[in-house]
Amino acid sequence: MLSFDPDNVSFCTGNYIDGQHTQQNYGQIEVSRPSDGKAYATIPESGIDGVADAVEIAETKRISSGWSTCSPRQRGAILHRWADLIEEDAAYLGQLEALGSTRPITDVINHEIPFTAEAIRFYAECADKYSGDLLPTRKDSLGMLIPEPYGVVAAITPWNFPLSMASWKCGPALAAGNAVVLKPSELTPFSTLRLAELAVNAGLPAGVLNIVQGSGLTTGSALVKHPLIRKVSFTGSTVTGAQIMSDAGFNGMKPVTLELGGKSPQLVFNDAGDPAEIAQRIFRGFTANGGQACVAGTRLIIQRDIAPALLDHLIVLCQQCLPGNTWLETSRYSPLIDSRQGNKVQSLIRQSCLEGGEILAGGKRFDHTEEGWFWQPTLLTSVEQDNCAVQEEIFGPVLTVQYFDDEEEGIALAQHRNYGLCAGVHTQRLSVAMRAMQSLNSGTVWINRYGRSGDFIIPTGGFMGSGIGKDLGRQAFQACQRQKSVLIDF
Ligand code: NAD
Repeated sequence: MLSFDPDNVSFCTGNYIDGQHTQQNYGQIEVSRPSDGKAYATIPESGIDGVADAVEIAETKRISSGWSTCSPRQRGAILHRWADLIEEDAAYLGQLEALGSTRPITDVINHEIPFTAEAIRFYAECADKYSGDLLPTRKDSLGMLIPEPYGVVAAITPWNFPLSMASWKCGPALAAGNAVVLKPSELTPFSTLRLAELAVNAGLPAGVLNIVQGSGLTTGSALVKHPLIRKVSFTGSTVTGAQIMSDAGFNGMKPVTLELGGKSPQLVFNDAGDPAEIAQRIFRGFTANGGQACVAGTRLIIQRDIAPALLDHLIVLCQQCLPGNTWLETSRYSPLIDSRQGNKVQSLIRQSCLEGGEILAGGKRFDHTEEGWFWQPTLLTSVEQDNCAVQEEIFGPVLTVQYFDDEEEGIALAQHRNYGLCAGVHTQRLSVAMRAMQSLNSGTVWINRYGRSGDFIIPTGGFMGSGIGKDLGRQAFQACQRQKSVLIDF
């Protein structure tokens, strides 16, 4: 039985520094449950002082514990144990995640926790697999490129997938020998604290992974600017990413990995296959986590002949969807994170309709969920390319529908002027799929599927306003190392 009583879960609420939960007296921020809007805890606003404590301890312990210099296999073994403890702790960790985030408990237990543990295992395996390079230099000399950890990495995560986002940041950074100071979103702060505690239980030296709580503007910004931070790994909105890129020039030039927003197209050709099956794929692509996924496929671009059958199936799927609190085993559909997000979804749909959009399904909040913001899966048609619902990342379960006649027109509609995170291409013709793949300005192209698999070897990252650098894959590990050039004369 996975259902639980949300008022009966106990947890720590402060920072986690040097292997200890700490309760600072810095200003407090109230945290609410998305499912029913109830305020259930507070976190500190750690600010400049709290960040300084965490970063200084991370730098001291990184060196004194030998984490940066120990054998990479030793680091890998500790990360493997951490992944095991995460799975063993699933019952409690899963409740923390489902209580405070938009992820229903069944989804957390079946997907989020195994996915988090596996990401850490992937990076445990990377620890001793990548070397530097020997460089062809003059006679009687030897050139080398030697990778080494940066030092302390700042990780800043969003609220939509708190556990897996933390694993994507901490896994590669720790495996490469860095220390990490992580600031989770102030909206979903608690499961990350438990994750860090489990790391120390697994043998990670205390102080090598510290968690600081607080808002982005005060605590997040102080973390990015701290002089001992040597690299910043961020996932969140494009606006915040731009601010972080500028702040990373303070106190030394810090490399940044930025995983940002998206407005991803799903391009469906007439020969894509069974409309019922394609509709399921499209539906999952824009409603998973209530549409609050950077990779959400929120722009359906559909060839005219297949449109009527596909839309009939999509409308039925939208109508069948039922909301349910995230702590109930039967719940499958996520609430919006809070009223601010709810109001944003509502006003963008209104604006889209003023600009000519028509609602084909959904379009409003579920009637009987007055406290939580559960939004009906929504189909918007009659939208031009410059309609706000086509251009803006709504971050809710809203799919715009546009039509095309020929391949060129379809690909042109699929391009976005700002975002380039992902794209789905659905066709049985290899040549059409390959031409679309080559043309699309997207960091990831999925052909005849939509969404990530468990293949951690495939990196993820956006083009243009969707970001810089990659999470996952070998690339994320290598981005956590700086390269030292060495030239020896014999
Ligand atoms: P957000 O940008 O508001 O916040 C993300 C994190 O940054 C939070 O921890 C926040 O406290 C912090 N932050 C905010 N301002 C900051 C500042 N000035 N300095 C330092 N830190 C700051 O994003 P969100 O609303 O939490 O998350 C939703 C966004 O994240 C969406 O745009 C979504 O597309 C994006 N996202 C992208 C990916 C990806 O892999 N590309 C994955 C998940 C989410």
